[in-house]
Amino acid sequence: MSIYVISHTNPDTDSIVGSIALTYLKNQLGEDCVAIRQGKISPETEFVLNKFGGVAPVLKTSVAGEEVYLVDFGDLAQSPSDIKEATILGIIDHHKLGDLTTDTPLECWIRPVGSSNTIVKEMFDSYKIEIPKDLAGMMMCAILSDTVIFKSPTCTKADTKAVKELAKISGIEDYKALGMEMFIVKSEVEGTAARDLLTRDYKEFNMNGTQVGIGQLEVVDLKVFDNKKEMLFEDMKKLKEEGNLHSVALLLTDIMIEGSQLLVVSDDESKFEKAFNVTIENHEAWLPKVLSRKKQVIPFVQPQF
Ligand code: MG
Ligand code: MG
Ligand code: MG
Repeated sequence: MSIYVISHTNPDTDSIVGSIALTYLKNQLGEDCVAIRQGKISPETEFVLNKFGGVAPVLKTSVAGEEVYLVDFGDLAQSPSDIKEATILGIIDHHKLGDLTTDTPLECWIRPVGSSNTIVKEMFDSYKIEIPKDLAGMMMCAILSDTVIFKSPTCTKADTKAVKELAKISGIEDYKALGMEMFIVKSEVEGTAARDLLTRDYKEFNMNGTQVGIGQLEVVDLKVFDNKKEMLFEDMKKLKEEGNLHSVALLLTDIMIEGSQLLVVSDDESKFEKAFNVTIENHEAWLPKVLSRKKQVIPFVQPQF
């Protein structure tokens, strides 16, 4: 029976490529693994897969009775709904420790680096398994995506080192240019439905018993949202009602000027004002230098609940 390697809900490039890379590594080590995904592939991920001839993992949202590895997450909210009926063999992640528990011992590779693919790269090194050229290119892009081309405060020396080594293997000299190309693809929002934008990189968090949803869209120029905000706010309200959430926030992140426009629909906006020490006007506030949800947003919002 195959073991499934799962990426998180609303999968991003780091989780999709990480699941593909871990699957390859585990297969080399003699484990019969298959990568699966729980949702739509984003345009950015599609760009990366096409560039290097990668194949998207198969869509599979139920894992009851299966053995699984988790890549780029470790909490219930981002797992298949029947994860508790699966056996978790391992977690490869770079987020805060989540709320999943296991009945059996597991393999854990969890470290505070900028990308799960940096950890997978170190797994390859530690097992002395060669990374194929195209896979190296995809992993390099995944790290550039998650670290916002090294600009994110989550980026560490381990990430830049991994990118340089992967660039060499993939034969790509100007990896920063490729990173920019990827973010330009990511910035294309025209003609996309509000719900697709809102949930493209969206996570729900249980904050001390209260449910809060936080999405993020990283673009090279915030102008792309000029005529989109009304539509986004409308849908944030709907999403909040549907999910019976306390708050839905959306970070519109400008990776060039390095900061995020925060949009909030909440039962109590003051929690966000306190978290960031800002005044929210018309449900919006500018957060200078904020690029990372995991490092600069969650740790400040969560204590307000
Ligand atoms: Mg991710
Ligand atoms: Mg990640
Ligand atoms: Mg990210």
